Amino acid sequence: MIHSWKVPTPVEEITVEGRRCFLKRDDRIHPDFSGNKARKLHYWLHRDLPQIRRLVSYGSPQSNAMYSLSVLARLRGWEFEYFVDHIPAYLRENPQGNYRAALENGTIFNEKKVMRNEKWEEEVLFIEEGGRQPEAEEGIRILAEEIINWQRERGVAKLTVFLPSGTGTTALYLQKSLQFLTLHSSLFTHVVTVPCVGDADYLREQFAMLEPDSSFWPRIVDLPRKYYFGRLYREFYQLWLELYRQTGVEFDLLYDPKGWLTLLERRDKMRGEILYLHQGGLKGNESMLPRYRRKYPKLDEILNGSHLERK
Ligand SMILES: *Cc1c(COP(=O)(O)O)cnc(C)c1O
Repeated sequence: MIHSWKVPTPVEEITVEGRRCFLKRDDRIHPDFSGNKARKLHYWLHRDLPQIRRLVSYGSPQSNAMYSLSVLARLRGWEFEYFVDHIPAYLRENPQGNYRAALENGTIFNEKKVMRNEKWEEEVLFIEEGGRQPEAEEGIRILAEEIINWQRERGVAKLTVFLPSGTGTTALYLQKSLQFLTLHSSLFTHVVTVPCVGDADYLREQFAMLEPDSSFWPRIVDLPRKYYFGRLYREFYQLWLELYRQTGVEFDLLYDPKGWLTLLERRDKMRGEILYLHQGGLKGNESMLPRYRRKYPKLDEILNGSHLERK
């Protein structure tokens, strides 16, 4: 349905802090519909769903998933209703990032708590916060196949796929699919992830909602320090800027800083080569980056003259 859907996504070799690793560019799938949300929503993009007229979901008014759902609805000609607890006044008055893009896609915002077990009419497609749905497995299985094919071509016997988690849907289905795909092969491929929303126990609860058999779950690593999701941390911003300087790649500002911080600290405990999954989310940087720049105005001098200056 999206004709310019670019898969398999490229794998690049990058060097961070003097160490080589591989980077799977899922941010490159499509300019409007990319990253792990494109993988998770693959199922609903590729099904005939003649009865559906309206898409309903809920969560934060800044979320990457909300934006991707608004694109899905636009592509499919559906109405999109999105429930939020609250839209902050500054955001309502200065729409930006995911919120602005979702508005431009015609999203109807509803400030009331959604009844998750509400019985929806037949014409409604209800998708859980962050796309935490069993249907997400379909698109993530394709991602797993791409990784295995690349691994074979490249001759990488042992591989750790590393990615930061929110709901953990991507990490879980990736681990499960990779386990099946490598069952009768000599390849060793596994997933390691770090929780960005909540702690390891929270992430395990999320896994359990989708897959009760814990033998399919990815390995979780975490840092001893606590970071709250969506808050600004100097070391996050500094690392994000460093990553840009060293690799030329723009990462997401919500999940990737904790992802990279953890990977750099725990690299020695991981087996084989590392493949970091770039899960997109760059639309969210349009609101995160100005917040960081206001808070740490001196830090971003290394970005002067770069393409990021356009923002
Ligand atoms: C949504 C998102 C995540 C989290 O994905 P889950 O499948 O919910 O774990 C990570 N990184 C980026 C950039 C995202 O947009």
